[in-house]
Parts: sequence; C-alpha cells; structure tokens
Amino acid sequence: SKENGRNQITLYEPGMQEAVEEHLNLQHDLRFAIGSDQLRLFVQSQYDKHNRICGAEVLLRWLHPTRGMLTPNLFIPLAESTDLITPLGDWIMASVCDLLLQTQQCHFPISINVSPIQFRRPDFARRTRQILESSGAPAHRLIFEITEGVLMEDFSSANSMMRELKDLGIRFSMDDFGTGYSNLAAIRRLPLYELKMDRSLILGVPGEQEANAIVRTVLAMARQLGLHVVAEGVENEQQKEFLLRRGCHGLQGYLFSAPQLVEQWLELIEQ
Ligand code: C2E
Ligand code: CA
Ligand code: CA
Ligand code: CA
Repeated sequence: SKENGRNQITLYEPGMQEAVEEHLNLQHDLRFAIGSDQLRLFVQSQYDKHNRICGAEVLLRWLHPTRGMLTPNLFIPLAESTDLITPLGDWIMASVCDLLLQTQQCHFPISINVSPIQFRRPDFARRTRQILESSGAPAHRLIFEITEGVLMEDFSSANSMMRELKDLGIRFSMDDFGTGYSNLAAIRRLPLYELKMDRSLILGVPGEQEANAIVRTVLAMARQLGLHVVAEGVENEQQKEFLLRRGCHGLQGYLFSAPQLVEQWLELIEQ
C-alpha cells in the first residue's frame, strides 16, 4: 500500500523505475545528439493537381547510436518537457535555412513543424529572425506549421507572435486541422496562409459519410476565406480524386512519396 513509502513502490512496480531511467537516458542522449551529427532531416514533397511538387514538409529523425532511427513522437515530447526544444528548434531552423539556399531554383515553399512550447517562448521571433538573417535564406519560402496548442494559453500573444513572424515573410499553416476543437472563429482572426487537414480525416474519405462531410466543409470554408489547403496522409487514388475534385490545393502522402532523407530528396528534385 501507499503507506509503505517510495521504496515499496519501486519494489512492486519495477516498470515504473525503468521508465524513469529510460527517460533520463534518452534525455541525456538527446542533449548530446543536438551537438553531434545524429539528427536527420527527412523531407516529404507535396503535389498539386498537375502532379507537380508545390511544397515540402521537413520531418525530423534521430539516428540514435544504439536504438536506430527514432521518429519524432519518441523524442519531441521529451524535448518539450525539458529545455531541449529550444536548441533543437534552432538546429532545425538553421538546417532548413541551408536547405532553402540549396533549393533556390525551386519556387515552392518548405514547411517546418513548430512545437507550441517553442512558439510560446517570448524570444521565439527574435531567435528566428537572427537565424534567418545570418543565413541569408529567403523567409518568403518558409511556412511554419503550428497546432491549436499555440492558442491555448493566450490567444492574443500567439496572434501577435504570428504577426511579428509574418512581417519577416514567414507564412503559417494550421496543422492537424479537423482534429480537436478547431475553433473557427479564432482561426479567422489569425494571419493564416494554409490549413493542413489531418491524416485521420483523410483516412475516412471517400468511404465514411462523416469524414466526407467534414473534408467538404473545410474545403468550402477555406475557399471562402481564401486559405490554401493541403491534405496529409493521402494513400490512394480515391482519396486523391475526392480531394482534387473539391479544390484541395496540395496533396501529401505515401501515394506520391514517403519522407526521404534530405540528401536523397535533393537528388530527386534536381532531376
Ligand atoms: P505531422 O506534422 O502530422 O506529420 C505527418 C506524419 O505523417 C509524419 O510522421 C509523416 O511521416 C507521416 N505520413 C506522411 N504521409 C503519410 C501517409 O501517407 N500515411 C501515413 N500513415 N503516414 C504518413 P512523422 O515524421 O513520424 O512525424 C510525426 C509528428 O512529429 C509530426 O506530425 C509532427 O507533429 C512531429 N514532428 C516531425 N518533425 C518535427 C520537427 O522538426 N519539429 C517538431 N516540433 N515536431 C516535429
Ligand atoms: Ca506537420
Ligand atoms: Ca497530422
Ligand atoms: Ca502535427
């Protein structure tokens, strides 16, 4: 029972102790990884109705020395719960600036995921401007994918952070749109460029009535508001047809291409 104290808990729940140690190890490893060359950018192209690349999303991977390639859901939450999300975010930002400079012949924008924790730091705009300016990368080709999480605590400071970054030329996409409580009234007041429809919605089209209705409504609303729309997780022709017929601008998913290591992605788009 609880009265027996902490030692008893570790005795009876060894899994808990292991989870804590695992967490500490990974945290230590991640701190090291940011300064070494274990982080990898993957890139997934987005396609328009003519099957041309119209955008690309950068997705982070961690090539862990003993655990292999880790996807972000295994370590982004860890970075967010420590102070590591800031150096991690700065590293991604600097790397994507390089990528923008390496792809200057391309006209499509490149999107990166910005964690709400990273976004809510008061110095986020200043850090971003510094990295942009020292690299000389064109901000007008940069899109920040944010989630509703950035709006949770303080709508007006999130709004003014967005406007500050927009003044630099950066555009915003509302990621995971259609999940959670998409607050349409709030969305309308934000300086958004794009809505990114979540894979969980796309999964249901064209088979499920409810998913169909939501996707159709999002596309109709986006047209009214003059917003660009990208669908993620497009895996088959039926989904592609459904989305294109209703005016979805960008399609992203395994039907077109999986995320690729940045070096391989660069070779492919240069052809
Ligand atoms: P997200 O932004 O919703 O990214 C979409 C996820 O769907 C990616 O997973 C991508 O690899 C995957 N995906 C793409 N096409 C398909 C498809 O056709 N079918 C299926 N089943 N999946 C597909 P990934 O790379 O594991 O990323 C997971 C999440 O981690 C992302 O979700 C994003 O929220 C976060 N994330 C990724 N990179 C970064 C980053 O650099 N910084 C931050 N803060 N978060 C990141
Ligand atoms: Ca995203
Ligand atoms: Ca998503
Ligand atoms: Ca997301």
